[in-house]
Amino acid sequence: MAKKKLHISDDIWPQERDFIEKPERYKYVRKLIKPKGCVFCEALKAGVNAKSLVLHKTKHSMVVANKYPYNSGHLLVLPIAHKGTLMSLSEEQYMDLMLLMKAAAEILYKVYGCDAMNLGMNHGRVAGAGIPDHLHWHLIPRWSGDTNFFPLIAETKVLPETVAQSYKKLKPYFKKVKL
Ligand SMILES: [Zn+2]
Repeated sequence: MAKKKLHISDDIWPQERDFIEKPERYKYVRKLIKPKGCVFCEALKAGVNAKSLVLHKTKHSMVVANKYPYNSGHLLVLPIAHKGTLMSLSEEQYMDLMLLMKAAAEILYKVYGCDAMNLGMNHGRVAGAGIPDHLHWHLIPRWSGDTNFFPLIAETKVLPETVAQSYKKLKPYFKKVKL
């Protein structure tokens, strides 16, 4: 029996498909390309509002609702200064950051009635920091039984509220923060 001749072109392009050229849609593709500036510095420039997701600002620090939360109420507390290491913060900047973190944690316990909290920072790219050039602590409320909250493998996590809802819920509490 003769060996079936392999038609490479047939294998690679098994069927013709109709397609429509829509070059103007490229702008949507471009949205997937990471912005050049720092997202945190850009958020700060946009002000303390629901669009920037910045909840509160002190002299040296700020709290932002995480745009991609692991759990409802996931906040980020970070220095205003665009710095990538704890060592590069002055004592005053560091103390301000810690005090704001404490205030934010207090608010999360109060508003979300969580049982516990993950407070963590990926210090440097190798440690997993997505934005290694601008330090940020993660504050993630935890409830008994909310296992598998880290969407590291599953990639998708269903949350009971939107980030906009979280922002709205938390905002009045941050207005009372005296820092
Ligand atoms: Zn920055």
